[in-house]
Amino acid sequence: MFRHKKRSTNGDDKSRPSRAGTSGDVDSRTGVLPDGSCLAGAKAAAFAGATVDCHWEASPPRFDGTLEAFAAAHATEAALVAQLRNIVKKCSCGKVCGFSLTECNACGKPLPAETSHSPNVFSGFIYGIASAPFPLHISIRRQSAQLLVFDDLLALTPCHLNAVPTSAYIPDWRFLLRRPREGLLLVRTLEEAAWACACEEFLASPSFRHKFLRGAARTEWTSAHSEALRPHMVVGANFPPSQFQLHLQCFLMPWLPFQYRMYLDGQHMTKGRFFPLSYIKARRRRLPASTPRAPPALVRSGGLAKHERTPSNFLTYAQTLSRHKKSRN
Ligand SMILES: [Zn+2]
Repeated sequence: MFRHKKRSTNGDDKSRPSRAGTSGDVDSRTGVLPDGSCLAGAKAAAFAGATVDCHWEASPPRFDGTLEAFAAAHATEAALVAQLRNIVKKCSCGKVCGFSLTECNACGKPLPAETSHSPNVFSGFIYGIASAPFPLHISIRRQSAQLLVFDDLLALTPCHLNAVPTSAYIPDWRFLLRRPREGLLLVRTLEEAAWACACEEFLASPSFRHKFLRGAARTEWTSAHSEALRPHMVVGANFPPSQFQLHLQCFLMPWLPFQYRMYLDGQHMTKGRFFPLSYIKARRRRLPASTPRAPPALVRSGGLAKHERTPSNFLTYAQTLSRHKKSRN
């Protein structure tokens, strides 16, 4: 179903149904619904392989309650309770923003200086909590005592995975710098797990390959194809993160069409916020192998030092954007 958005100048979405059930009153001749949506008669066969079901059996939550109730049950364990919340700045418009921002990235108003909290749903996934208070259902692709790989709830590409460590609490990727060698090992393990999922769960599926790949890889899958495709999985982490537990975002290209548009408009892999894994790994290499802890300047809270944000990390992004702008002029 394709939805034609009709937006007024004040940003209100005029295409939203005014009451529940209107979307059912379809004009059988035109396929147009009262809210402006069109039933385009998409052919199901053309979308075979667009999704790949996960094979893990559904299991009940280990804690059948809310994050709040879980925190109350562990009230004496301050370190654990701290893992259950994100540190954010809340705008008067209602948007929850990164704590390092000074202006709301939705309405542009100045943000309050003081920070507040929001539920850390990734901690909820790790501890097996039922809700936050909305249900914490996830589509698991791989799990062990050390890590969890699952489909992103708001997938931007047909195969969009999050790889999360479960044996350590790491609020954001900067904390990896405190123990650089272990940090590097950890991100490598997460990256390998995500790539293994992409291969075994998605690329092993003939219908997925037929939908998204070209050439011989559509009909047969070899180690050479795997090697050739691997650079097309973009991996990185945001800072500030949306959820305060390290999660490598792993996007196997291509983008979904709408999300590609968003990317061109600078809404995804945002410059200054999305840090490619190659950049994160390079931060480890600069430290001597014998360094037990990173220099304090590298782990100072409140953001990275300016000299760490090198424009070359975002060269491809900037080039894409510049090409896109030129083509529009
Ligand atoms: Zn706002």
